[in-house]
Amino acid sequence: MSQQSPIDIRNPIYADFGDGRLKIAWNGDVHGHIHQGNHGLQVVFASDCRQYIELSGKQFHLRQFHFHHPSEHWEDGCQHTMELHVVHQNSHDGSLAVIGIFIDPGKTKDRMHSLFDDIVSFSSAGSSNGPEYHVSFNPQDFLPSDWEKHYRYEGSLTTPPYSENVSWVVIKNPYEINKTKLEKIRKLFESEARFPQPLNRRYVLSTFRDDEKTKGKK
Ligand SMILES: [Zn+2]
Repeated sequence: MSQQSPIDIRNPIYADFGDGRLKIAWNGDVHGHIHQGNHGLQVVFASDCRQYIELSGKQFHLRQFHFHHPSEHWEDGCQHTMELHVVHQNSHDGSLAVIGIFIDPGKTKDRMHSLFDDIVSFSSAGSSNGPEYHVSFNPQDFLPSDWEKHYRYEGSLTTPPYSENVSWVVIKNPYEINKTKLEKIRKLFESEARFPQPLNRRYVLSTFRDDEKTKGKK
């Protein structure tokens, strides 16, 4: 077990991925249901061939997403308020590609407010034994506008069985939610964050150059 996730992201190496770069094809609304999993609330989808991403030329279909509070990935020793994990799976070998999106309080218009309202009412209704709670939304709306700035590394699931078959993409800039609503949501996902794991012999790559830091070193 030497390639575990999450990690504290430090000193990423700039890489031009060319044709292997991340391509996101989240086409239109997806339909799923909210579900109380072993590790917190999840939104689960039936396999939908219209929704996928490509990473290094390999296709992964959207499977589910869930949240962590506080964030699991750290950046230079700092945590974010929450982290969304959008989980994709390759249908041939079962390997996973997860997109991590940080969530912080902010002033940008929250395009996912109806989904968050659904999650809050699901949890307050205590519907773990109730009927499945259906939701539909467009996952595009979670993407910060400059999502092309992100980190990539090879890691694992952050919950048991910690399988090391996960390609990670962590988006640099956070998705912003109004502070009051973030307070409500955050409480539903408390203590669901695994501590950063040693990097060992891995590299973290980034699709962008950190200009600020380069200037600082000169
Ligand atoms: Zn997760």
